[in-house]
Amino acid sequence: MAQQGILIVISGPSGTGKGTICRELLRSNPQLKYSISATTRQPRVGEVDGVNYLFLTQDRFKTMIDNHDLLEWAEVYGNFYGTPRHYVLEQLNNGYDVVLEIDTQGAMKVKDNFSQGVYIYIVPPSLDELADRIYKRGTDSLDAIRNRLSCASDELSLAHNYHYIVVNDQVAEAVQRIETIITAEKYRAERN
Ligand code: 5GP
Repeated sequence: MAQQGILIVISGPSGTGKGTICRELLRSNPQLKYSISATTRQPRVGEVDGVNYLFLTQDRFKTMIDNHDLLEWAEVYGNFYGTPRHYVLEQLNNGYDVVLEIDTQGAMKVKDNFSQGVYIYIVPPSLDELADRIYKRGTDSLDAIRNRLSCASDELSLAHNYHYIVVNDQVAEAVQRIETIITAEKYRAERN
């Protein structure tokens, strides 16, 4: 039987660039599997259903909750987000390492069941830098930006719940740090 894969959970305040880091990490490490989350939020320009997210109606999302189809779910910025259970468990059982990019509430729920997972928190070099990045991204309304910024400083106080904190000053370097973490954690898992 294949050795179980490891679960890699990545969080960080909105605008830290964790999406870019995850994309780059997966591009350079095609053996990693990305868990596509379900969400009730509207797609942003350029986002594709089944690629970026599974975009669901509230009813469909609630049915998934009722059927225990989600490993975790949370309400983030007024929308629901959740991790489909089946895909993650199947990939881990087949020996693949799985990356979840989820918020802190979801990550802590997953940690209750997967204490052996690797929990990585991505932080911006500073809060000013974070504000700058969210404005420049230009994908959110002003109200949404204000909401994201006020949540960001609360979220930063949760960083201590993670095993690793990675500062995103340069994407390539942040990705390299995560690759090093994964290599070390895989080695550790093999020895246990
Ligand atoms: P966005 O709307 O910017 O794509 O994501 C908003 C927040 O939801 C981000 O912090 C992202 O990590 C989080 N998120 C995305 N997918 C999931 C998920 O499946 N579960 C949880 N709990 N949070 C998620």
